[in-house]
Amino acid sequence: MLKNEKAVVVFSGGQDSTTCLFWALKNFKEVEAVTFDYNQRHRLEIDCAKSIANELGVRHHILDMSLLNQLAPNALTRTDIEVKEGAEGELPSTFVPGRNLLFLSFAGVLASQVGAKHIITGVCETDFSGYPDCRDMFVKSLNVTLNLSMDDNFVIHTPLMWLNKAQTWALADELGKLNFVREKTLTCYNGIIADGCGECPACVLRKRGLDEYVSEVGR
Ligand code: ZN
Repeated sequence: MLKNEKAVVVFSGGQDSTTCLFWALKNFKEVEAVTFDYNQRHRLEIDCAKSIANELGVRHHILDMSLLNQLAPNALTRTDIEVKEGAEGELPSTFVPGRNLLFLSFAGVLASQVGAKHIITGVCETDFSGYPDCRDMFVKSLNVTLNLSMDDNFVIHTPLMWLNKAQTWALADELGKLNFVREKTLTCYNGIIADGCGECPACVLRKRGLDEYVSEVGR
């Protein structure tokens, strides 16, 4: 579609952003990936992103976003918040309101630096998260803001915005990369690559989508 242009993909090494990376490689002449390091509970997430980018020969930027932990109302990083007993696994240790606003803004600055016009993100309005800064209206609004802020003409693409998990698997399959995405990406909250632990909410969602897609194809 825009074969002669350059794109930056917001890339975490998970199913969604890896599918977006393949989508970008199909649609753009030159693709770079950016991963945000905000002291994720599983360092493996960064390693996973690194190894996928390396395997695909994609230039990979890892940006230090540890300030997110400073901003987060998080008992593990702030002494003025009480740690509730037994709730460590449940703390929103990575959630910050506006996180995607920050990520996409930094991706925009990077795109400007590397001469890319296109920014690709795997955010999705149909998934369970419901984060306001993953909604289509927000992304369109930020697109305008980024362009005004840098007097540029970026285009933010959201190939997964209206897809459910089964449709995201279908897209990976359409790109000829279903097995790659299944075997090499990390979605599991317990840091287990590919099909994961099978029990955490992320694994359950991922598997449900895959089963749904496979049974549709099988018909
Ligand atoms: Zn899991």
